[in-house]
Amino acid sequence: MSGWFDSLPLPRSVLQGVVWPAVMTGEAAIVFALLAQLQQAERLAPAALHGLQQRQLRTLFTHAQQTVPHYRDALRHCTAEDWSRVPILERAGLQQAGAALRSTATPQAHGQWQLIKSSGSTGRPVEVEKTAYTGVLMKAQMLREHLWHQRDFSRKLAAIRVAKGQAAAQRLPGIEAAGWGAETAMLDMQGRGALLDLAVPIADQCAWLRQQAPAYLLTYPSNLKALLGHGLEAWPTLVHVKTVGEMVDAELRLRCASQWGVPIVDEYSAQEIGSIAIQCPDHPHYHVQAEGVFVEVVREDGSACAPGEVGRVVVTPLHEFRTPLLRYAVGDYAEVGGPCDCGRGLPVLKRILGRVRNMIVLPDGGRRWPLAGDGRYRDIAPVLQYQFVQTSRETFEARIVSERDLTRDEEQQLADWIRERLGHPFRIEFHRVPEIPRHASGKYEDFVCEIG
Ligand SMILES: [Zn+2]
Repeated sequence: MSGWFDSLPLPRSVLQGVVWPAVMTGEAAIVFALLAQLQQAERLAPAALHGLQQRQLRTLFTHAQQTVPHYRDALRHCTAEDWSRVPILERAGLQQAGAALRSTATPQAHGQWQLIKSSGSTGRPVEVEKTAYTGVLMKAQMLREHLWHQRDFSRKLAAIRVAKGQAAAQRLPGIEAAGWGAETAMLDMQGRGALLDLAVPIADQCAWLRQQAPAYLLTYPSNLKALLGHGLEAWPTLVHVKTVGEMVDAELRLRCASQWGVPIVDEYSAQEIGSIAIQCPDHPHYHVQAEGVFVEVVREDGSACAPGEVGRVVVTPLHEFRTPLLRYAVGDYAEVGGPCDCGRGLPVLKRILGRVRNMIVLPDGGRRWPLAGDGRYRDIAPVLQYQFVQTSRETFEARIVSERDLTRDEEQQLADWIRERLGHPFRIEFHRVPEIPRHASGKYEDFVCEIG
């Protein structure tokens, strides 16, 4: 394992006349101090790392017990030392608890909070408020991920993803930017970034990529599959593909390697939490970001899975003091891995089983991705979970789990919202169901296409 912190490019100095060693203030100084500790932490023995996590967990536990209405009740008979008795928080529980999960005494020093709405990996929309501090930690984790995978900050990174609120990304030629993102803006980097919205048709995405010729492509696994399926050839400058947001299977890794000659680097995250695990630089498995999250993989009875076993992923973000989530079942499954020979003591997840995306078929035979959920339907009707199934070129079935029957007016408004997501005035048929089961493979699909 190399000292990746040493390979960090020279940061931008804020002190006039001083270039090196660089002087940093504010957020940049915090991010760099965190980065140094991240490198230190991943070299610790698993037991030492676990001990540090426990210290942080106890602080969070006490804060939750004392200042969060939901936990005042739920943790009445628990102590932080007796962690396995802390009840698992299901997505439905998070939905129902709502504002009762917010601290009445969020430490001011953690900064302002922001509302995050997520449709997540089970079609159950949830809302949490996240403090500014968790965003700062996330920047350090993002830089760590770049450094683990030795990305050259002078080269181009192009992203094809859901670009909410960025209308210019929804058509060619997309958006070009001076850098890759907020986390790399602290470096004196020369690389360029480019962004295109996922909803742009695949043929246009291919043309855009040929023209952009980035060193790194960031997109969702299902979109990568569509690009490969469209017959796009690799461009000579491509180094690897970074995937986010859905599960990557061994077949896609093989196909990318054989058709494009480059590997996939995957990251496991959830909108309401942030980064959960990033891919090991030496293996296609994942290392838990143990400085930011405490991850348990549990059996149906709540006991811990052993290496080789698949169980539910239960996550406790260690620093979220506005909406503390203790033992939150994020909605995915994972296989526990054994120790990694790369030298990192961070726990290993062998593979993740989560959401997949499906393309929809338009009446003229064209294909496109539906837009991702924006959580707005919760303002229209008390929907707990959904699945949209295309049953013909003109028709969608909307399977809805809801607190009560929807009114005709709610169905009407919901149908309009769905048509907007689908990008076509499809006929929408509503079916209220008690539950939407997960596919046998462990995948959950919020959009399903049942026609050719
Ligand atoms: Zn490793």
